[in-house]
Amino acid sequence: MKEIDGVAASRGICIGPVFKFIRTELKFDTKLINDPQAEMERLNDALQEAKRQIQQIYEKAVKEQSKADAEIFQAHKLILDDPELISAIKIKVEEEHKNAESALSETAQSFSAMMAAMQDEYFAARAADIKDVGDRVLRILLGATEENPTDGLKLSSVIVADDLTPSDTIMLDKSLVMGFCTARGSATSHTAILARGLGLPALAGAGAELMNVEDGTTLIVDGTRGVGIIDPDAKTVEDYQKRMQASQTMQAQALKHAHEMAITTDGRQIEVVANIGNVEDSKAALDNGAEGVGLLRTEFIYLERSNIPDEEEQYQVYHAIMDAFGDKPVILRTLDVGGDKEIPYLNLEQEMNPFLGERALRLCLARPDIFKPQLRAALRAGVGHNLKIMYPMVATVAEVQAARKVLEECLVELRAEDKPFAENIEVGIMVEIPSAAIVADQLAKQVDFFSIGTNDLSQYTMAADRTNPKVAGLSNAFQPAVLRLVRDVIKAAHAQGKWVGMCGELAGEPLATPILIGLGLDEFSMSPPFVPIIKQIIRNLNAEKMAVLAEKALKIESPEAICDFVRGEVPVLAKIAG
Ligand code: PEP
Ligand code: MG
Repeated sequence: MKEIDGVAASRGICIGPVFKFIRTELKFDTKLINDPQAEMERLNDALQEAKRQIQQIYEKAVKEQSKADAEIFQAHKLILDDPELISAIKIKVEEEHKNAESALSETAQSFSAMMAAMQDEYFAARAADIKDVGDRVLRILLGATEENPTDGLKLSSVIVADDLTPSDTIMLDKSLVMGFCTARGSATSHTAILARGLGLPALAGAGAELMNVEDGTTLIVDGTRGVGIIDPDAKTVEDYQKRMQASQTMQAQALKHAHEMAITTDGRQIEVVANIGNVEDSKAALDNGAEGVGLLRTEFIYLERSNIPDEEEQYQVYHAIMDAFGDKPVILRTLDVGGDKEIPYLNLEQEMNPFLGERALRLCLARPDIFKPQLRAALRAGVGHNLKIMYPMVATVAEVQAARKVLEECLVELRAEDKPFAENIEVGIMVEIPSAAIVADQLAKQVDFFSIGTNDLSQYTMAADRTNPKVAGLSNAFQPAVLRLVRDVIKAAHAQGKWVGMCGELAGEPLATPILIGLGLDEFSMSPPFVPIIKQIIRNLNAEKMAVLAEKALKIESPEAICDFVRGEVPVLAKIAG
């Protein structure tokens, strides 16, 4: 028996025999050619074929996963249109007379290495994407068939690989894959995102020696804690099986009651809603029992396109979403771009520190030509529904006042144009910048509600980039500094009779539920698959007792110790392997 440490890439546990995937290296000759034009034609054909294949994978991903997850493959298609990449290959063929295979492979390698060298998780994921796409084109040029990591697989198994690309992950035969474990990779890679969407337990970054494990060896993947156990003894297998069974029972119960309310044992009703990015996500949210939308990330509607959607186009999308939710609340967050969410066609100026730059509400206030059509479209789509508008990245009271002025202008215009719009809607803000948390008492006077964005609140409070795995321990929402801000924000809002939700990842984290209930959080908003289990945990908690637990938890000095403490105090959590 041997324990290996890795990164918890996708929650859950699986136990099964190893099925090792070793990718065949693509071999080709580097040679000089004498007809560059014919070579370019061969390359262009391969690029077109690659696009066609990626489109198929995209469609498969949309069907099997969410549209948001499938976007990874739209990005893959864009790589094939990247003018810098294409012209670099072209130069090698046309001027240096290199064959298509070597021109493509050298260029993809150098672009990928450049991204990887940036030592940033976002760019590391891009490097993996370029390699995935480059290998696809190379395979087509060589007439090699695409390998599927599950080719030859007959028994339910745990896939072990050096690394899996996003396309590998989509191609896996899910009926036989219990989970996977990779030597490389990280929790924020696109492959990990896809694994979470598929509900497959995954461990990444387990180290090179993982590949020494023999096919058929029993492997436990604990994707919740980030450990793997090779060749476990009988006692360990039994312990894990018990955990899996308890978790399955809890999951089944959670699903059975998904459409019922979440009420604590002492009678506090908690709203459990979903984070969505487009119309397609609405179904997953409703199927999982979400009581509405706590965060509609409207930027996806902009990211999927090559030009700004006008008011009418936005109206159509918002209208379809509002319709899907009927009279359930839908909180529409206005455009949150900048930082790691870049929209090329907005032609925004390059900034030294985009996370600290003119992003989100700051950009919208500077660009009424972008802000107003969105507000107008939202107000029109809200007619007859329960629309709420929320501004992201608020740092000051002045920003909220400025946004209100723009919203009022929109109302006046729509009235003058005789266009129907939703009246008396609630307007709130995200609390995700420490300054907003610190002056929450002032901000609470300006708005109807808060929604705490722990993803950004953690990175700004801890000065630790949320996309950088090297500082993931710091940008952790369980850090006492972050939890204390959460406590203060809830207190400040309640003192003014305003309600508080949370739409950062912490809201869907089972270990945080007891603390958040104890702090008095009114609404939890999360990725749709987490809704049933969080509701089920809430049903097992006593809010008054959790207030005492939260007070004690916030005195503890580290995230790990806080999590251990909660685990020890709340027995129901032991039943959640996922
Ligand atoms: C957050 O910052 O917690 C949040 C929910 O917003 P996003 O993740 O979209 O930045
Ligand atoms: Mg945010």
